[in-house]
Amino acid sequence: MPAKRDHTSTDTFDVLVAGGGVAGLSCAYAAACSGRSVCLVDRGELGRATTHVAAGMLAPVTEADPGERALLELGLVAARRWPDFAQEVERASGQDVGLRSTGALVVARDRDEAEALERVRALGAGLGVEMERLLPSRARRLEPALAPTVRLALHAPEDHSTDPRLLVGALAEGARRAGAVLRTGEEVAGVVADAGRVSGVHLSSGAVLHAIDTVLATGAWSATLPGLPDAARVPVRPVKGQLLRLRDREGPGLLERTVRFAGGYLVPRGDGRYVLGATQEDRGFDTQVTAGGVYELLRDAVELVPGVLELEVEEALAGLRPTTPDNAPVLGRPEGVEGLVWATGHHRNGILLAPVTGELVVRALDGHAPPPAFAPARFVEAPANVEVIA
Ligand SMILES: Cc1cc2nc3c(=O)[nH]c(=O)nc-3n(C[C@H](O)[C@H](O)[C@H](O)COP(=O)(O)OP(=O)(O)OC[C@H]3O[C@@H](n4cnc5c(N)ncnc54)[C@H](O)[C@@H]3O)c2cc1C
Repeated sequence: MPAKRDHTSTDTFDVLVAGGGVAGLSCAYAAACSGRSVCLVDRGELGRATTHVAAGMLAPVTEADPGERALLELGLVAARRWPDFAQEVERASGQDVGLRSTGALVVARDRDEAEALERVRALGAGLGVEMERLLPSRARRLEPALAPTVRLALHAPEDHSTDPRLLVGALAEGARRAGAVLRTGEEVAGVVADAGRVSGVHLSSGAVLHAIDTVLATGAWSATLPGLPDAARVPVRPVKGQLLRLRDREGPGLLERTVRFAGGYLVPRGDGRYVLGATQEDRGFDTQVTAGGVYELLRDAVELVPGVLELEVEEALAGLRPTTPDNAPVLGRPEGVEGLVWATGHHRNGILLAPVTGELVVRALDGHAPPPAFAPARFVEAPANVEVIA
């Protein structure tokens, strides 16, 4: 780890990060640890947008779509890095990140769902992730709160979880201790761009911050940032997710492992708190919690874990997943624009991908091209073929 550097007295940095969610904080932390001077700016409080809502599952296979192969492989790399990453961030910050290595049970209620579990198992096996098929009696021995309606279960021993709110605090402290300046309550009003080169950002206060490289980690708001050269734009849209945070007054014990089912999941925090998620809705920048959303969440969860009805509702929340057309993140430099790096589009996996987000962004800062599956250039339309008439 480099010695802490004092960059607080200047408005010119090696790296400027716009956005202080898990993506921006992972980049600020990794860039500061690489010895660069870093300033991060968020218009609100750190980690209070989508990251504040996330359940914190680290579930590369059971959360994946088989068609999204590159994302699946990146998720697996990230999941395997998580134990070391958690230790490193905890050491750097002196704060817990809430990693729980308990594994998960994926449960099916009927034949169709059981067939879907078989597909997940085959997908995992093809990637070297073994998941054991459990008959209902064994599943209920592991998790006695499961209802007799369970027809089949998969044990996913590598699916863990973390607490995103703790992670935010630890990444921020780790970044600060490595010398990063974290500024909150300041909105980036646009990027400073001239002749294909980005050299910093304008704040709404009128101030300008300069940097050799600007990392854009503005989550679901990434497509709306003013001043971007056309070649640098990325098609990120918000995908709404509603979620309930529940609490057992009696303390922990209802569930030990994450339980996933068609359309949802219950993630135990280990202290009597549970996260029940999540809806997936294309509704623009709408973060209203609706009766329909809450009903949808509870309907399935109660059928599988009836004890959920006894839990207190602590919070009902909605967040906006930053989502690209192929559901994969955008991590790297756009072609033809200097001084700019994207770290956005993490959709349902921003917490899982935290270790590789920082790493790939530092690689981009070092001048490496992004893996093509995550490059901003994949969204740039190829010029139409020009027909040559002889
Ligand atoms: C219900 C739900 C459950 C989820 N569960 C999981 C899960 O279990 N596991 C998992 O891996 N992922 C999960 N996710 C996905 C995860 O939450 C996201 O992928 C991740 O939080 C995105 O992080 P981010 O930093 O890109 O965005 P955000 O956390 O939204 O951060 C973006 C930041 O940019 C700031 N910003 C935006 N515009 C500007 C501007 N102009 N100037 C200054 N600041 C600006 C915002 O204030 C915000 O703080 C879940 C998401 C939802 C909604």
